[in-house]
Amino acid sequence: MTRSLSPRVEAVFWFLLTATGYYLLASLSLYATKGADNIAAVWPPSGYFLALLLLMPERARSAAFTGMALASIGANMGAGIGAAVAAAYTVANAVEAVIALQLIRRFEGAEMSFMAPRAVGRFCVAALSASVASAFMATALTANSADFFLSWMTTVALGMLIVTPPIVMLARMVGSNALSNVTTAMKVEAVALMALATLITGVSFAQSEYPVTFLPCVAVIIASYRLGPFGAAAGMLIVAAIASLLTAQGHGPIAAMAASQKTEVLFLQFYLVTMLFVALPLAAMLVVQRRLAKRLEQSNRWLLQAEAAALVGHWRVDLKTWTITWSDQTYRVHGLTPGMPVDVDYSVAQYLPEDRAEVQKVLAEAVRTGEPFVYQGRIRRADGEIRHVKSHGSIEKGRRGKAVGIFGTVQDVTETVENARILESARSAAERVANTDMLTGLPNRRHTLAILDEALRAARHDGAALAVAIFDIDHFKQINDNHGHAAGDAVIRRVGQRAKASLRDEDLVGRFGGEEFVCILQGRSARSAEMVAERVRKAIEADGRTSGVPRVTISIGLAVFAGEGSAEDLLQRADKALYLAKREGRNRSRMAA
Ligand code: GH3
Ligand code: MG
Ligand code: MG
Repeated sequence: MTRSLSPRVEAVFWFLLTATGYYLLASLSLYATKGADNIAAVWPPSGYFLALLLLMPERARSAAFTGMALASIGANMGAGIGAAVAAAYTVANAVEAVIALQLIRRFEGAEMSFMAPRAVGRFCVAALSASVASAFMATALTANSADFFLSWMTTVALGMLIVTPPIVMLARMVGSNALSNVTTAMKVEAVALMALATLITGVSFAQSEYPVTFLPCVAVIIASYRLGPFGAAAGMLIVAAIASLLTAQGHGPIAAMAASQKTEVLFLQFYLVTMLFVALPLAAMLVVQRRLAKRLEQSNRWLLQAEAAALVGHWRVDLKTWTITWSDQTYRVHGLTPGMPVDVDYSVAQYLPEDRAEVQKVLAEAVRTGEPFVYQGRIRRADGEIRHVKSHGSIEKGRRGKAVGIFGTVQDVTETVENARILESARSAAERVANTDMLTGLPNRRHTLAILDEALRAARHDGAALAVAIFDIDHFKQINDNHGHAAGDAVIRRVGQRAKASLRDEDLVGRFGGEEFVCILQGRSARSAEMVAERVRKAIEADGRTSGVPRVTISIGLAVFAGEGSAEDLLQRADKALYLAKREGRNRSRMAA
């Protein structure tokens, strides 16, 4: 406000503002209490001066103190008080201002705010300490009584407590441009509430018939509620000014009490102090509460936004009341409109009957152990669609470690589950292709060898019998030469099928390459293996006659696993036996030695 002024002009400005205001307020108070044996209920110049000291720059303070001293002596002498006493009073008032200022600065730094309950409390402490010191000075300097001490102290304290806050708050609001953020409607409301406080206090204290001192309290409480600390402070200022002026003039319910002057003043002071100590902290607490509520509402909004963006909802079961709450996103996951009432049983019933028991089991287990949990299940959404959902959660524990609630998140993982299923079927299809011989559909060489390795491991492990048979189509080159390669392929396919059909399910036949096949005969002794080989050989020999495919025979070489040796050894022995069978005329089977 005075930033652009030169230091000299600034000093003159604060000197004049202090001197004029102080003189007018002091003269008015002294005049008003003239008929009341000079006992003032409130000494507003103290509050006015402290407010200016808090608002002015430090370098203007000496000018302000000079102005205050001149105004104080002038006003006191103007009211008929002798020069020495006027000077003593002035010293006391100046000392109180210095003490209050020092204490406030120590407590609150440069910026004194009335928006926090703590700051209001500290301001009260500063004002009370300063008025005790002031009363002590005035009493000592004028050699007065204990009564004088008490009345001086309360008067000064009330002057500071009532007058300083509204002036400082208003000046700060004007200085910080905060008023430009205030809507016209709010300004109108503020003026209306102040007018109401003026009217109610005026009416209540202008009559002596009814004891309606409580009515101004209602106006102050409404102003505090609607306008915050400023409403409380400004309302109090109005009530204090009107009530003390009218009471000092002998009007109103307090003056009509027919008590001594001193008692009336004391009553008025307590009346004001009570109202002040209710309204100001209450208004400050209200500011804190509203700020907290706003912050809470905002973080809740952010949480819901984050949930909607991440498609993750949350829910909470209260184990004491057995109720459940869902977040908006949880409703969306279930295809429901947010806000619809839900209960625990309904929430569990969302899961398909097959999955319900598992969900209940996981939750019961979590409550029992107190451990975090994860479960996945299928729900039937409101639109009938079945979706996979996953929940992560934890148990909330009460003071004695007892479970009091279950908190969980819920996420629709249908796409993930679906993708995993597609991936798995693609993987198994690829595996099938990699393991299968394309011409016959039988296991290919690689897969046959893998199965043989597995069978050998098992046989070694439990000592079970195992035999292998290698068979090869006889004179196959001639089939190719006489009937063509396609017919050759058809023969290979047909031989594979016949061989497979004449084996048990436990036995396996794979295409080893060309027109050569391997049978893995698990649990077969040499004799049993020979019988199987014969059955296969005969089936193929017989087959040519019944199908359109050229007739062929096969030769078979057998070998039995003897408890040791590799798959390669076993196959080599079978191959040698096959060679023998070929040499001995084909269309027969031979057992390796
Ligand atoms: P042997 O009685 O001694 O077994 O006489 P073979 O004529 O059958 O002789 P061998 O087993 O050495 O002949 C293999 C022939 O099989 C050679 C090759 O042309 C043919 N062949 C290998 N794979 C295929 C195939 O996938 N399709 C067709 N059509 N012919 C194949
Ligand atoms: Mg061959
Ligand atoms: Mg052959």
